[in-house]
Amino acid sequence: MLKIYNTITRKKELFNPIKKGKINMFVCGPTVYNNSHLGHAKTYVQFDFIVRYLRTIGYKVFYLQNITDIDNKIIKKAREEKTGWKEITKKYESSYLSDMKKLNITSVNKYAKATDYVPQIISQVKKLIKKGCAYKISDGWYFDLSKNKDYGKLSGRTLLKTNDSVSRIDENKEKKNKGDFCLWKFSKPGEPVWKTDIGNGRPGWHIEDTAITEKEFGPQYDIHGGGMDLIFPHHEAEIAQMESISGKKPLVRYWMHTGFLEIDSKKMGKSKKNFYTISEIFGKGYSPLNLRYFFLSAHYRKPLNFTFENLDYAKNSLNRLKEIISKLKKSKDKKNKKNIELAYKQFLKFLDDDLNFPQALSYMWDILRDNRLNDSEKYELVLKFDKVFGLDLNKEEKIRVSEKVKKLVKEREMMRKNREWEKADEIRKKINKSGFIVEDTKKGVIIKKR
Ligand code: AMP
Repeated sequence: MLKIYNTITRKKELFNPIKKGKINMFVCGPTVYNNSHLGHAKTYVQFDFIVRYLRTIGYKVFYLQNITDIDNKIIKKAREEKTGWKEITKKYESSYLSDMKKLNITSVNKYAKATDYVPQIISQVKKLIKKGCAYKISDGWYFDLSKNKDYGKLSGRTLLKTNDSVSRIDENKEKKNKGDFCLWKFSKPGEPVWKTDIGNGRPGWHIEDTAITEKEFGPQYDIHGGGMDLIFPHHEAEIAQMESISGKKPLVRYWMHTGFLEIDSKKMGKSKKNFYTISEIFGKGYSPLNLRYFFLSAHYRKPLNFTFENLDYAKNSLNRLKEIISKLKKSKDKKNKKNIELAYKQFLKFLDDDLNFPQALSYMWDILRDNRLNDSEKYELVLKFDKVFGLDLNKEEKIRVSEKVKKLVKEREMMRKNREWEKADEIRKKINKSGFIVEDTKKGVIIKKR
């Protein structure tokens, strides 16, 4: 029986979706104005693990993610790069999707761009105006927090506390309450604009998501996810908007939030400039699957410390695992179904307990060391586990050797032919430094990843 920690009730709850066997799930996607970093990778890979698991245990999941393609940060970036905002979003959306594909994130059913939902956004703002929950000031329409007694129920903040908050809340001295957030911003000259009867403007940040989820799922759905930083004000604002519009509570049954990827106990992020982009890490000799393994090592709700030592540990563990698998694969041992069933049940038990992936991973290593199981049984079990881990353990990894390394390998062979052993050894060291090793076999030289 699956139990999930629900941020709103602050406890692990038995999972019970609105419709039996079916899950509508929404995870906040990125604002596309920059290349994605490893912090993004942690959140999205960990939700990929979670959705793979939900499907493994039989749920039909519709996994929806938004893409924020209209935002102040995008407009600022377009000015900096002296280009249009659409060019910026196109470039970084495509880089985001390409990173996600490389990370083997295959679980998302639909990526929904905010700008494709502007009619729904306008309709939601109008409904809030009609219900007396929104008011107009010089730069746009705002949500009136004094009209929402429930505000703060997700984050545990009182209205007073929401007043001190400054995090990504729209500033304007005319606001009724300090925490009031913008629903529809009037556009300044040169900014993106939609011409409407509530004023010429563009969507506020929080209303995008409720417009998207209402269109795709209706006013209530099962799971909403994102990083911890989105609990307040973003997710709190979504609840206030949608529950005010529909009068139906709760908007979401289970709120799930990931812990941060940290460097020196600080969140990895664009604003602190303490980040590594995903593509930068691939260029440093780490594969997307090394990252997936790394993200398996921490519980999704917990922070994870980024260091190159930790990443190396993940990389070496995955290499070792692949070597073991390639040996197990050859086994002709006769399998005992009961042994497999029993071990798999235990694996599911760990994941049923609020998706404890680190424990499931360490259980996999226990299985590999367990003398009571034969090699064929171990092989079948690990492949079953890998359906959730997505480490492609059964796939031969294609290695891409750069022209530079190919040239070094040729030079080394020449030196060896000429019996210039010292020079050949120097070149071998250079090859190693580039992240590869060469093995001299009877059939010739084999190049492998270090
Ligand atoms: P953003 O584009 O900054 O809005 O972030 C997109 C998603 O990535 C959100 O769910 C964030 O919470 C998440 N995220 C950003 N930085 C980190 C981090 N350092 N660790 C984990 N998740 C993060």
